[in-house]
Amino acid sequence: KETSTRENNVAKIKVVVRKRPLNKKEIARKEDDIVTVKENALTVHEPKLKVDLTAYVEKHEFCFDAVLDENVTNDEVYRETVEPIIPIIFQRTKATCFAYGQTGSGKTFTMQPLPLRAAQDLVRYLNHPLYRHQNLKLWLGFYEIYGGKLYDLLSERKRLFMREDGKQQVCIVGLQEFEVSEVQMVKEYIERGNAARSTGSTGANEESSRSHAILQLVIKKHSKVKESKRNNDGDESKVGKVVGKISFIDLAGSERGADTTDNDRQTRIEGAEINKSLLALKECIRALDNDKIHIPFRGSKLTEVLRDSFVGRSRTVMISCISPNAGSCEHTLNTLRYADRVK
Ligand code: ADP
Ligand code: MG
Repeated sequence: KETSTRENNVAKIKVVVRKRPLNKKEIARKEDDIVTVKENALTVHEPKLKVDLTAYVEKHEFCFDAVLDENVTNDEVYRETVEPIIPIIFQRTKATCFAYGQTGSGKTFTMQPLPLRAAQDLVRYLNHPLYRHQNLKLWLGFYEIYGGKLYDLLSERKRLFMREDGKQQVCIVGLQEFEVSEVQMVKEYIERGNAARSTGSTGANEESSRSHAILQLVIKKHSKVKESKRNNDGDESKVGKVVGKISFIDLAGSERGADTTDNDRQTRIEGAEINKSLLALKECIRALDNDKIHIPFRGSKLTEVLRDSFVGRSRTVMISCISPNAGSCEHTLNTLRYADRVK
């Protein structure tokens, strides 16, 4: 009884905004910080000019489940976003944590440490007397969606394919999963995977901003099958039955969705794909929030692979990252409006 009460206390969808500090370049350019935070509200002070060139400021106010200012640490971000979900992952719940925002707003900075902290907590649960005898194991997989295709970030960027099993379970065929027995290994996997993200001639941050990176931690229950049976293809992770899952998604830069008029054909195609996936994501989260029967997950590759996170018991946390400088005002407002629609 007590657990079900606890479970209900965790909102199905939580929208959090994180503002990063001004960086050295922005300070050197003497850019203004145009975002002020007060509790769970924030105001964007948009600098504008009248026809006669007098300057004025237009204020835009927003309210979210939580707003984290530039002084908030990654540890506090974890406590606000992911920590409350950890216990219910053991109750067949699929949880998803997204970082949304323009390139350079702090998505990767925010997302990178979260799976490590989550893994630490999950392992503590696994070893608790309540669960210890159940033969549960924690597995980690890390892949990306780039131009609508899937690549394994921990296995030489091997091409992956999605399959549905007819019971609304999604399977990423060929995804290499690693057992997390040493929590410190998670840090290495994260760094290895991030280094393997799409990097083209134009430089690392440029290219990784065009892909969605998905790191999943999965708890599986392993029955005590015979050794010969379990090692059919040498992959033990496939034998376990999924008990719960949490996915950490470092989304493509939100401004990339606007690259649909670029001169370069490839860039245009990627921009259109990103635009489609971010729109589909918003629609799926909204449908989820309204308990709609029909979830429009077929709208994009991203929402298709997340299908099982949008049905049944699920929890979604959206962390919208924003840059505080005046030069990013337009993108910041776009990000906040997107987050506002999801809420
Ligand atoms: P994105 O992944 O959205 O493109 P990054 O996470 O790479 O952005 O962040 C851009 C830069 O800003 C990085 O150098 C990062 O270290 C820094 N940064 C981002 N958020 C913060 C923060 N909250 N505090 C300090 N530095 C930050
Ligand atoms: Mg990034």
